Amino acid sequence: MSETETMRTVVAVHEGRPAEALEFQEVPVPQPAAGEVLLKVEAVGINYADALAAMNEYLTRTHYPYVPGMEFAGRVVSLGEGVSGVQEGQLVACLAGHGGLAGYASVPVSALVPVPQTYTPAQAAAFAVSYMTAFHALRTLGYGEAGQWVLVQAAAGALGQASIQMAKALDMRVIAMASTEEKLELARGLGADVTLLQDDPERVEKVRQAAGGKGVPLILEIVGGRRINESVAMAASRGRIILIGNASREEVSLNPTHLMKRNLTMTGLWLNSLLRDPQAQAQAAAEFAALLEKGQIVPQPGPSYPLSETAQAFEDLLGRRTTGKVIIEPWR
Ligand code: NDP
Repeated sequence: MSETETMRTVVAVHEGRPAEALEFQEVPVPQPAAGEVLLKVEAVGINYADALAAMNEYLTRTHYPYVPGMEFAGRVVSLGEGVSGVQEGQLVACLAGHGGLAGYASVPVSALVPVPQTYTPAQAAAFAVSYMTAFHALRTLGYGEAGQWVLVQAAAGALGQASIQMAKALDMRVIAMASTEEKLELARGLGADVTLLQDDPERVEKVRQAAGGKGVPLILEIVGGRRINESVAMAASRGRIILIGNASREEVSLNPTHLMKRNLTMTGLWLNSLLRDPQAQAQAAAEFAALLEKGQIVPQPGPSYPLSETAQAFEDLLGRRTTGKVIIEPWR
C-alpha cells in the first residue's frame, strides 16, 4: 500500500442528526503501527449504539470529530511490527469502538474477532456485537437452561434475531415480541415458539399463559422505558430481567416493591465491560465456541447501503424501519 494512497471516510463532525452531522472526507490510508493490523473494510455492521453515539446520546460521551463504525469486517492487508496469529487475506471481524466507516482501518490486533472463513463479509460484520451480547444475556447473566422459556423483545432487530438463534441453539423456548406481523414472521423463521405483537392489548396475560401460566423466568429487556414495568408483570416468581437495551429511549419509573414481592432480579448488561472482564470471557469462551460449532448460529445481515447513504442507514435504524443488522459497504 503506497503512503500517498487516499480513502473515503465518514466523519461525525459535531453532535446532531446523522444528515446534519456526518460528512465525507478523503484522507490518507493509514499505515499499521506496531501491534496493529491494516484491514480493507468490506462491511460495517451499524449498531443502535453507533447511531446514539453519533448524536452524543450513548452511554459514554462522544468526542468529535471521529469516524463512526464500532463493528466491521474486512480482509487483512498488512501486519504491523510484532503481530502474529493472523494472515494477509484472512477475513476477520473487528470491534475497534470506531473507525469502520472508511475504506481501510488500522486496528490493534486485540480488537480482532476470528470468524469462520465461510462467512460473507456482511455476516462477519453482523456477528460479534449481537451474538456475544445474546450469549452473555442468556447464559452469563441470565443462567438460561435447555427447556426454559425466554422472552425476547424487538425480536426482528439485530440483537433480537441473534437472541432467538442463540436461545434455540441452547434448546430454550422463545416468546418473541415485535411491532409488526412482518417482524414476527422473521422471528418464527428463526424458530421462535410463540410470537406476539408488542401492542397486543392482552400481551401481559398472553405471555404469562404461554410460559405455563406462571410467567417467564428470563426476559431480555431490549426496548426499555415503560416496557420494563410490563416485563415485571410478565416475569415468573424469582424471574430475571436482563436490561440490555433502551431502544425506546423513554425514561421509566419503577416501584421496587414489585421486584421484592416476587423475588425478581434485574441485571444490567453492557457488552463493552464484559469484553474487558477476563473472568466473563474465560467462562464464556468454550461454551460460545461449542454453540457456534452446532451450526445454528447464522448471522443475519439486514439491509445494505453504500457509504454515500450512511446518514439514511442511521435514520432507517433509528426509525425502526430495518430488521437484522444494518450493513454499510464502503466500496459499493
Ligand atoms: P435494532 O435497530 O436492530 O433494533 C431496535 C429495535 O427496537 C427496533 O427495530 C424496534 O423493533 C425496537 N424499538 C422499540 N421501540 C423503539 C423506538 N421508540 N425507536 C426505535 N426502535 C424501537 O437495534 P439492535 O438490535 O442493535 O439494538 C437493540 C437495543 O439493544 C438498542 O437499545 C441497543 O443499544 C441495545 N444493545 C445493547 C447492547 C449492550 O451491550 N447492552 C449490545 C447490543 C445492543 P420493533 O419495531 O419490533 O419494536
